[in-house]
Amino acid sequence: SVSMESVSKSFGTHKVIQDVNLAINDGEFVVFVGPSGCGKSTLLRIVAGLISASSGIVRIGGDDVTDVPAAKRGVAFVFQSYALYPHMTVARNIGFALETMGIKRDAIARKVQSVARMLKVDHLMERRPRELSGGQRQRVAIGRALVRQPEIFLFDEPLSNLDADLRMEMRMEIARLHEDLRTTMIYVTHDQSEAMTLADRIVVLNHGRIEQVGTPSELYHHPDNRFVAGFIGSPR
Ligand code: ATP
Ligand code: MG
Repeated sequence: SVSMESVSKSFGTHKVIQDVNLAINDGEFVVFVGPSGCGKSTLLRIVAGLISASSGIVRIGGDDVTDVPAAKRGVAFVFQSYALYPHMTVARNIGFALETMGIKRDAIARKVQSVARMLKVDHLMERRPRELSGGQRQRVAIGRALVRQPEIFLFDEPLSNLDADLRMEMRMEIARLHEDLRTTMIYVTHDQSEAMTLADRIVVLNHGRIEQVGTPSELYHHPDNRFVAGFIGSPR
């Protein structure tokens, strides 16, 4: 589980996140939506531990992790710019985190193989990132996060660089991944149909505040206000 309790964040005098309270259950798929600049990425980075909140508490599995560094939070993230290591093969890109953890080489090879098979990149192991398509790179980036067996998976617009066909294909892959692993996922997107199809619950953000949290159907049929209705596209 992940919970945010009165989380706020300012950059200088600019309040970017304002008193966010949110509890995410184990295995839940939660999607953050909202206009550009509303604070989606900032909130995700606070959960990841990449930046710290100005005030408030973040809990993971009930423990206060506010002062715990990113590497020790049991979270893995996939960002829009997937920044694979260009000089490393696919296999090494996927396994690199395990190398840094001092895990034995044959154990790494087995783990990398099983993750690569799951993401259908096992035929590409010796290639370099520049020799891959966008969707293949995206899969490798997901594999690199997955190999660490995170308890929590954070995605920040992971499909926004892909063409429509690949987006759809990868959307299905991510849904399948969630179904198989039941990992807690927090996913940021601009794409409403992505949000509606993937989410157990959607969090609508606006100016750093939560406007509404609910299942796709709740938001669609019972938006709390015009902003949510406009954003989710329900006829109200
Ligand atoms: P987008 O949909 O465009 O990715 P977002 O919802 O992810 O937007 P954030 O990246 O969280 O938005 O940014 C929220 C606000 O905080 C923006 O106004 C942004 O300019 C500001 N901001 C983000 N990071 C910093 C920073 N390091 N220093 C100062 N301001 C920042
Ligand atoms: Mg963003």
